[in-house]
Amino acid sequence: MDLTSYAELAVLLINSPDRLTGLEGLRALLEEGGRYRPGCRITRSDLEALRDLREELMIVFETAEAGDEEAVVDRLNSLLIHHPVQPQISGHDGERWHLHLTEGGRMADQYAVGAVMGLATMITDLGVDRLGLCQAPPCRRAYLDTSSNRSRRYCSERCASRANVAAYRARQKVGQ
Ligand SMILES: [Zn+2]
Ligand SMILES: [Zn+2]
Repeated sequence: MDLTSYAELAVLLINSPDRLTGLEGLRALLEEGGRYRPGCRITRSDLEALRDLREELMIVFETAEAGDEEAVVDRLNSLLIHHPVQPQISGHDGERWHLHLTEGGRMADQYAVGAVMGLATMITDLGVDRLGLCQAPPCRRAYLDTSSNRSRRYCSERCASRANVAAYRARQKVGQ
């Protein structure tokens, strides 16, 4: 089980506030994250729990951006206590036996366990500075920097080129 890939669940949640307005949106978000199984029950309480989790995760990324590693670790440790891993071996949909981080609880609880364990694994394997927020204003989407030289600054190619154009224009102005 590649736990760092679970960190993508945190990124997906942070970057999808527009999906957290109703149950249809939530279902789409879960499908995008590969977390939706037909027939699984999602309710308004999942929606509220994931909205809260989104705010907590956003603070983790903002704290990482500010370079306060101790505070990032404190926050993730407290999230790990609130969303404990309870691993279970599972087999479903014709898949081989594999581990689930947790089975019980609401859909939102299972999502939270994955997202938080993913971030915890990410920072312990690769470093706190791997959690980033896009530097092309006004975008503040989250990303995971998996580049070998830790050089990523933007959430997407689109934001990177927008920032390049803005920087170019700023230089032109200085030159005038
Ligand atoms: Zn499974
Ligand atoms: Zn961006």
